[in-house]
Amino acid sequence: MRLIGLTPSVDDKTGRITVNQDYLDAVCRAGALPVLLPLLADAPAQWDAMIDQLDGLLLTGGADVCPETYGEEKLPLCGETAPLRDRQEFYLCRKALERHLPILAICRGHQMLNCVLGGTLYQDIAAQYKDELRHPCYEVPRDQVHSVAVEKGSRLHQITGLDTLHVNSRHHQAICRLGQGLVVTARANDGLIEGVELPGPDFVVGVQWHPESLSDYVPDAQALFNAFVNACGGKA
Ligand code: MN
Repeated sequence: MRLIGLTPSVDDKTGRITVNQDYLDAVCRAGALPVLLPLLADAPAQWDAMIDQLDGLLLTGGADVCPETYGEEKLPLCGETAPLRDRQEFYLCRKALERHLPILAICRGHQMLNCVLGGTLYQDIAAQYKDELRHPCYEVPRDQVHSVAVEKGSRLHQITGLDTLHVNSRHHQAICRLGQGLVVTARANDGLIEGVELPGPDFVVGVQWHPESLSDYVPDAQALFNAFVNACGGKA
């Protein structure tokens, strides 16, 4: 059975970790075992051991990435951050890329992947980009509130077989400068980057929306998890 490591959120005030059950169900439906990774402060030996055990890395949603991660000062409209989680995920993501471990990166994870590859983020879309299309629709987590145009020839297009996807949207930040080597695979109507991937044989796919919350009733959303798990070699 293939093991897919998931990074949880941590509440820095209480120290409690949480993860949305939707991620676990979507990985399970794809035929793999989701494994919750503990958040361990500056423990590279343990982080390496996680990577050694896993067949794939799923970077999940959560707090805003610390702007220091991409060399900027935190602006007032940047939200809550999780510095411990940032350090561990940055390390795990970089190691997974080095080891050619498949990566599915969702929302904050998609932004983290971009930062690991040297890209930057809009700290607040409405303040720094445009506010004509409302992306922070947290109150309707499963509603497909906007569409994205999918780039033909991308892995995302191969997986979904669709030129347009109808997606949910639970983010107030987004990719600004694209990380090195990444290509854009999906954009919203306002031009915002909603999907990225690394071209080539390794499965490294980021999406700004939350396919895990749609995966029990939207086939293209579950198809992403199925393709990800299929790309994970597994230990038979
Ligand atoms: Mn959006």
